Amino acid sequence: MAATAPVFQFEPGDQYDRTLAANVHPFDWVNPVPKRRYNLVVVGGGTAGLVTAAGAAGLGASVALVEKNLMGGDCLNFGCVPSKALIRAARAAADMRDAAVYGIEPADVQVDFGRVMERMRRLRAELSAKDSARRFRDEFGVDVFIRHRRGRRPDPTFSQGVHRNRCSGCRTPDSGSRRGWLSD
Ligand SMILES: Cc1cc2nc3c(=O)[nH]c(=O)nc-3n(C[C@H](O)[C@H](O)[C@H](O)COP(=O)(O)OP(=O)(O)OC[C@H]3O[C@@H](n4cnc5c(N)ncnc54)[C@H](O)[C@@H]3O)c2cc1C
Repeated sequence: MAATAPVFQFEPGDQYDRTLAANVHPFDWVNPVPKRRYNLVVVGGGTAGLVTAAGAAGLGASVALVEKNLMGGDCLNFGCVPSKALIRAARAAADMRDAAVYGIEPADVQVDFGRVMERMRRLRAELSAKDSARRFRDEFGVDVFIRHRRGRRPDPTFSQGVHRNRCSGCRTPDSGSRRGWLSD
């Protein structure tokens, strides 16, 4: 888990970022009423958390997943996926520039960085369906809790409950009044 979460700003006018947001941080997300008890509470919906939640749910466990920012974590949103999209574009430009090595007349390479980034956002948005909150809820049956920045301050009772659930007790506080912590 990254020590400090990078600041992420969706581009509201960008269709790909809208798709990304709808998958990894849906603003209309309604957190479920927490169950009294889970077999596993996963804190963080990055690579590790998603694999753990899906795996445990697949084995029949009752699973809650708590994400404070973006489902998919670093890998989808900032790391693996964006970097590979940029590296692929850079390789294409280098291949065109160095084409003579292969007996091909080199092209005059003009990099349109805006289009490179647009392609990155498109690929990220497409892949984000795999990490989406809805998929984890509907396909895996995981209770997904997403914190929204607007709205009430974190409910310390619930936070402590999540903390306790790292241990074997696996109790959640009663539902209802706690929902405000994670939703608007
Ligand atoms: C530029 C770059 C390129 C990379 N390329 C690759 C690659 O090609 N291949 C590869 O295998 N790895 C790559 N990585 C590494 C990869 O991104 C990380 O290994 C991976 O993201 C770690 O996953 P994680 O779930 O442990 O943590 P994170 O991805 O950091 O996920 C943690 C999640 O927990 C959430 N969270 C944190 N605290 C709380 C809290 N208190 N309550 C609720 N939620 C919380 C965060 O918001 C976040 O969503 C790359 C990393 C970078 C930066």
